[in-house]
Amino acid sequence: MTSKTETSAAPDAYAQLVSHARETGLFAGILGLLDWDERTKMPQAAGPHRADQIAFLAGQIHRRQTDPRLGELLGELAATDLAADPHSDAGANIRLLQRDYDKKTRLPQELVEELSRLSVLGQQVWSAARADDDFPRFLPVLEQTIALKRQEAAALGYDDTPYDALLDEYEPGESTANVARALGGLRDALAPLVEQIVGSQQGPSNEIMLRDFPKDAQEAFGIEAAAAIGFDFAAGRLDDTVHPFCATAGPRDVRLTTRYNERDFGDAFFSILHEAGHGLYEQGLLGEHCGLPIGEATSLGVHESQSRMWENQVGRSRAFWRFMTPKAQQHFPAALAGVSAEDMYRAVNTVAPSLIRVDADEVTYNLHICIRFDLEKQLIEGDLAARDLPEAWRAAYQRLLGVTPPNDAQGVLQDVHWSGGSFGYFPTYALGNLYAAQFFAQAARDLGDLDEQFARGEFQPLLDWLRTKIHRHGRRYSAAELAQRITGKPLSHDDWLAQNTAKYGELYQL
Ligand code: ZN
Repeated sequence: MTSKTETSAAPDAYAQLVSHARETGLFAGILGLLDWDERTKMPQAAGPHRADQIAFLAGQIHRRQTDPRLGELLGELAATDLAADPHSDAGANIRLLQRDYDKKTRLPQELVEELSRLSVLGQQVWSAARADDDFPRFLPVLEQTIALKRQEAAALGYDDTPYDALLDEYEPGESTANVARALGGLRDALAPLVEQIVGSQQGPSNEIMLRDFPKDAQEAFGIEAAAAIGFDFAAGRLDDTVHPFCATAGPRDVRLTTRYNERDFGDAFFSILHEAGHGLYEQGLLGEHCGLPIGEATSLGVHESQSRMWENQVGRSRAFWRFMTPKAQQHFPAALAGVSAEDMYRAVNTVAPSLIRVDADEVTYNLHICIRFDLEKQLIEGDLAARDLPEAWRAAYQRLLGVTPPNDAQGVLQDVHWSGGSFGYFPTYALGNLYAAQFFAQAARDLGDLDEQFARGEFQPLLDWLRTKIHRHGRRYSAAELAQRITGKPLSHDDWLAQNTAKYGELYQL
């Protein structure tokens, strides 16, 4: 075949490729909706049939992603003009679909099925083991999971460590060494800051947060706040769940969820802002690219940077509470009578080392992640035996946070991730915090006085900036490329540390 013929055949092959990917995307949206329903509205008795439905759809998606016809189309397109620029619409789609196809087809079907079976079993065993504080019951299935994840890494291939292959699933293109560098630097700088905060006698109190906050009023206020920062409730909704998450059923259908604690205002409020941050990213992806790589989020770390920015850099700022406090008082006239904006700002920014990751404050949260990253890397690299994990966990908590879990339920058994085989996921939480700070520092340089804007309830300039710089590109740029393009430097903990040292230095009079 001459190159002329190849080029003229390319548009047809590309149209078929796009059509194939879009149809796979339709399945993925249906799966997202079923998953959302399972975790919010589904009657309990529907569980077994729902599991069949989800397994069936996941199988269909996997079959489509490994379809030899997809490989042929990608092969036809590889050397054409359409693929020449890796960051053009077509070039990015071809490059990333090829990347996904290569990864999926490297995994033997038996291993995929075994991993999926063990993930379901692992979560069931973990749930029971956590309820009974019984790590030994969880140990055999954890050992099997680690062994399979090592097989998975070997099948996928890696340069330095098997952990690279697993990390790539959540943070494409990122390396273990680079994450270890960023988190190691953060941990070393963070430990003395936490020590100073704990030693301070001058810190704020969270007493205001622990008053009576009726559920219905919390929901109404949460919706008002999410709408204020730009979440479009004509293209999304908020529902109750047990473990808050954000699910996407389609480009104009983004589902936020939360849970309410009537004696702790912060629980639901900041989880709503957090999930709304994820939702804003999903609503900011371009619907015309739905189902294609350039219409998908680029990494979990970047996703988390969006949720964390709205939760922390915006939602825990003094300016935000100057705008929000009078509105909060309309929803909670009894609890917040006589409370000033400054009182609210101080109450939502208390720091205290704790045992549980999901309850951690803005400052100590990253230490919980550093501990998990370090341990799971050792588990996958074979430097730590699973049976020694509880002791290693306790030692790390004592060393970094100064607290020791009284049992494994509040220690090594607290998170679901490892039971489902999600090794390589944890660091994306901390990467999200670092990217949030780095992007926010640049937004502040680009947009002028953000505090003045927030105090007036103007969040659109920041949202537009995020839409232009991040959301509309989908996966066109990796997380590392976005950081470089937007901020002119690679991933770093500098901005996070500067922002938090200044903020908590003032609050705790350090
Ligand atoms: Zn999140």
